[in-house]
Amino acid sequence: MQDQFQRQIDYLRISVTDRCNLRCKYCMPVEGVQWMPHESILTFEEILRLMKISTQLGFRRFRITGGEPLVRKGILSFLREGALLPGVEDLMLTTNGMLLPEMAFDLKAAGVQRINISLDTMDPEKFKDNTRGGDVSRVIQGIFRSLEAGLNPVKINVVVIRGFNEAELPSFLALAKQYPLHIRFIELMPIGISSEHRNDFVPIKEMKELLGIQEYVPTLGIRGGGPAEYFRPSGFKGSIGFISAMSRHFCDKCNRVRLTADGKLRPCLHSKHEVNLREALRNQSSDSDILELFAQAVWHKPAEHHMNDEALQGLRVMSQIGG
Ligand code: SAM
Ligand code: SF4
Repeated sequence: MQDQFQRQIDYLRISVTDRCNLRCKYCMPVEGVQWMPHESILTFEEILRLMKISTQLGFRRFRITGGEPLVRKGILSFLREGALLPGVEDLMLTTNGMLLPEMAFDLKAAGVQRINISLDTMDPEKFKDNTRGGDVSRVIQGIFRSLEAGLNPVKINVVVIRGFNEAELPSFLALAKQYPLHIRFIELMPIGISSEHRNDFVPIKEMKELLGIQEYVPTLGIRGGGPAEYFRPSGFKGSIGFISAMSRHFCDKCNRVRLTADGKLRPCLHSKHEVNLREALRNQSSDSDILELFAQAVWHKPAEHHMNDEALQGLRVMSQIGG
């Protein structure tokens, strides 16, 4: 459907859990995360009902995220059912990749078409430190299993952090040259815990300099539809892209809304405004009442975010929103 600023909104990002098997430093505090109580998390039946309703509003593309979506019990049967819903054209997943070595083929069989895997560093020690315990070899194995399974495209999310992984940008470039992987370099956003680390932010302009490519000619035809622009230097099997939420925001092209694991619809990632769909689901509202609530929320999607003016301290951390 269209919102009041004539943007076509057809993309729903669904967080199925706020739990995670990692604790990335820029995403979650080491301890003290207030987990959402189990009873407040939407059941898969409730999420499927909302997906169905959203297709009546013209939503076609669905990304399942978290927390870490693959840690939620029953995820594969949920995905299988979601992929079969009439109107669902694209079912995608964002994962930290830790469980992919075992699950990549099952995900493909369940109907997932594309996958985004987060990998900020390929250095085992740095990875372990940044994720507080993760094993990078599993993520790398998971990336190759995803390619073998035929998930397409396989995109790699690299959040670039000053003093941490800038020096590795050329190694990621080499990965895109050698394999059909789409590497997306992402600016760190001052959300939740990262709002204290504004100085760690590396602007896209600087990332491009670090990569040392002389000319960036956008490559059409790489499936995205999101905020990234893709570039495929000659001789590359994959591509590189940049996601700049801070230095050049893309609100005028924003096509998405988000559903949190506890059933709140968030029209803008960076706004506090949420609409409580869980309450509607659980107080016997009819599909048409929920559809009306959903449509109102989309219509009132803000024109743009104000992340550059105010860090969003004290709000939900990224793992609770879904990225
Ligand atoms: N656990 C899954 C994963 O890590 O891919 C899915 C959820 S995670 C919140 C989704 C994405 O958000 C990841 O690629 C992560 O790197 C990114 N992210 C988390 N905090 C961020 C921040 N402050 N700025 C930019 N990206 C962030
Ligand atoms: Fe977990 Fe993903 Fe957040 Fe890392 S970025 S702590 S993997 S939710």
